[in-house]
Amino acid sequence: MLLFLLSGCYSVPEQASGGGRAEAGPEKSADTGAVADTQSGASDVFQAKGAFHADNLLLAQRGISVFPTESGFFFSGSARFYDLSQKTAFTLCNVPGCLHNSESCPAYFSGVLALMEHEGKLFVFCEAGSGLILVCADLKTGERRTLESWQPVALGDSVVLSGTPFYSTGRLYFKLGTSAGDHYSEQCFLCDLPEGVLRKFGGENEREGFDFLGAYGERAVVAWSIRDEDPQRFDEFLSQHPELDPKSHPDADPDSAYSAYLDDFQRQHVKGELRLYDLKSGGYEPLLPILADGSENAPNVFFSSGGSCYGRYLLYTLGDFDGAETICRYDLEHGTVERLVDGSRFLNGFLYDDRLIYLEKDEKQELHVRVYDPETKENRELDNAGETQIMAFSIHAETADAFIGMYQGKDMWITKADFYAGRFENAVSY
Ligand SMILES: [Zn+2]
Repeated sequence: MLLFLLSGCYSVPEQASGGGRAEAGPEKSADTGAVADTQSGASDVFQAKGAFHADNLLLAQRGISVFPTESGFFFSGSARFYDLSQKTAFTLCNVPGCLHNSESCPAYFSGVLALMEHEGKLFVFCEAGSGLILVCADLKTGERRTLESWQPVALGDSVVLSGTPFYSTGRLYFKLGTSAGDHYSEQCFLCDLPEGVLRKFGGENEREGFDFLGAYGERAVVAWSIRDEDPQRFDEFLSQHPELDPKSHPDADPDSAYSAYLDDFQRQHVKGELRLYDLKSGGYEPLLPILADGSENAPNVFFSSGGSCYGRYLLYTLGDFDGAETICRYDLEHGTVERLVDGSRFLNGFLYDDRLIYLEKDEKQELHVRVYDPETKENRELDNAGETQIMAFSIHAETADAFIGMYQGKDMWITKADFYAGRFENAVSY
């Protein structure tokens, strides 16, 4: 879709304009620099499936985060799109002679905090004074409008993005933090795209907390919490602990003491549970009983460092950390649980390319990268470039044909075919 929009202003190869999964055949792999798998013995290596799911995607932010599409990705929290078929990054502007440095440029945004694309439109959170705005920009016409502006009421107060917003099934999910004097509060929002219709989620009770872990359609996984009283502010805490006053006690460490106080407060005064919400009705049910199967420990939905949800699935483990464990996925659309892999030393796992890619340690504490295909039940160890303690190419996101991540300390992408075959020398910097 995006490439089609750009094709009026840039020379884009015809075969890339569709960007669809149906085209992710051997010819397309050749376009992106991959060597055909048949050369290295096809049966020994997983073939790329070309799967891409535009759900539960974190927005591109400043830093290494990317927002992937089927054919490329936005990166560095700017309106820059990396086209994998051309191995080139473009500024998303078609104004002749534009320097991309003022508001007249459709790709220029001042103070970008996070960015995503949906059906040819960019949705961008930008700093605006002590608050922020959500802007929608049409990539084809350059037209832009501010969907919403959040500004603090008083001088010295502020409104900020809390955590990383994410996108799933036509919706943007995000959380704002408002500082007003000594008071800090948070509010979750859902934004239906492309119209940009906003609604608040939760927030009636100031002592309740909500964190979206992922969503699919009308079902959302939420970490809910409630506190029975408010913690002391830092100045209140210090006034009750004169022994921590740095003026009279230069060796005191009030910051560490306050941090320890907050940890203790969390244990004593905050309760929480994971919930599965029906966003249409507003109702919910506790999530862990749905996932549990009588194992010793509660299901661990924080197993994956990449987040809890991928596409329509929630990834989690069941079992005991010292004993047998099972990696499972819960289908948010159909409400079904699937047990994927049994083991005893799982470290991490991700659902990419319609497969489970996971890390496991052996008795010698050496790390192995494995791939399991739920469709064929095949399970294979991947080449990890001789690394025994880290994943050689760590994946942050995927397009249909490539994984985006980090290799040898650099931000890089690699075709799925090259990744499965261990041809890391073909990874490309961006
Ligand atoms: Zn421009």
